[in-house]
Amino acid sequence: MNKTNILGLSRDSLKTFLEKFGEPAYRGDQVFKWIQKRGVKSFDEMTDISLALRKRLFEEAELCALDMITSIKAADETEKLAFRTRDGLVIESVLIPDNSGSRLTLCVSSQAGCRMNCTFCRTAKIGFHRNLTVAEILDQAILASKAAKKGNGSGTEGNTKRITNLVFMGMGEPLANLERLIEAIRILMDDQGLNFSSRRITVSTCGLVPAMDVLGRAVSIKPAVSLNAATNEVRDMLMPINRRYPLAELIDACRKYPLARRDRITFEYVLIDGINDSVTDARELVRLLSDVKAKVNLIPFNEFKGSGFRRPPREKVEAFQKVLLDKGLAAMLRSSRGDDISAACGQLAGEIGSYSLYQE
Ligand code: SAH
Repeated sequence: MNKTNILGLSRDSLKTFLEKFGEPAYRGDQVFKWIQKRGVKSFDEMTDISLALRKRLFEEAELCALDMITSIKAADETEKLAFRTRDGLVIESVLIPDNSGSRLTLCVSSQAGCRMNCTFCRTAKIGFHRNLTVAEILDQAILASKAAKKGNGSGTEGNTKRITNLVFMGMGEPLANLERLIEAIRILMDDQGLNFSSRRITVSTCGLVPAMDVLGRAVSIKPAVSLNAATNEVRDMLMPINRRYPLAELIDACRKYPLARRDRITFEYVLIDGINDSVTDARELVRLLSDVKAKVNLIPFNEFKGSGFRRPPREKVEAFQKVLLDKGLAAMLRSSRGDDISAACGQLAGEIGSYSLYQE
């Protein structure tokens, strides 16, 4: 018999599921809390549930989706976690503490691989395997929360061990797995579960215009758009999706995106030497975003073997940033976290230690 994976169920769906066993609605709340908030991985740990119900659940349901296979920590305390799915794929999440120790961000994957084919991104090189399920998206947060709490204590004194922020910037294009993404976000925001507020969840997209519209109406999260170029000519070359949804359409979707009064869309801009990093490019970018509520995150390109691209020299990066700032466009320079363990932006390729997503 196929067991139902109740890890991927919202609290309401879990209640409906348990009703079939003649259970009252509040039982759904109890079980939900055990799974989503306390992160238990066996029914035996649910000590306020009757033995009889635990036994039935054991027979008809499951609550695991991923196995954590390994984790490695970078010199800057960024930690990459590798998980194996039931069908043997390896996906990754990254725990990123901030310098002040008050914030701990989890970078979550939405797909195994990616089919967007951005020419500068390492995840693209492994191709696309499949969408992650709701349970697999949630299990990254649940297992990472447990890993963070345990920690190893080394040099993390005084740092928060609770994940405070989620960013959907791991492997894959979240908006290409839209329904599951939305369902997972709703469960992550449930106050009986991990209880993330909408202000602490960021979803990044390469620019799937119709899906942006759906997302904006379905949940309130902080949107981020990977822009990476200010002209169609350059963006077509870096991001094939631009041929389908060119800049004018993308910027229009950004203008229409529902935002709280003080909120802005984050635009990520990977700076690549000689490709999109000139002062002219910077001016184009200012012009492009002139009537968008925008802030820009500048990410100097993370080099990897065979990419054919290079990181610009520091002076060019600073000159680029200066143009934006001088024109009143908020622009942060992102330091690359976890670079030494391939945990930085665009480096997730399912290879960690001896594990590999490629099955050769
Ligand atoms: N598919 C979504 C989510 C992934 S976010 C999106 O495109 O937004 C990953 C971020 O890393 C993107 O902003 C991407 O532009 C950036 N990135 C990809 N490869 C990179 C590299 N080699 N160096 C620096 N940033 C990179």
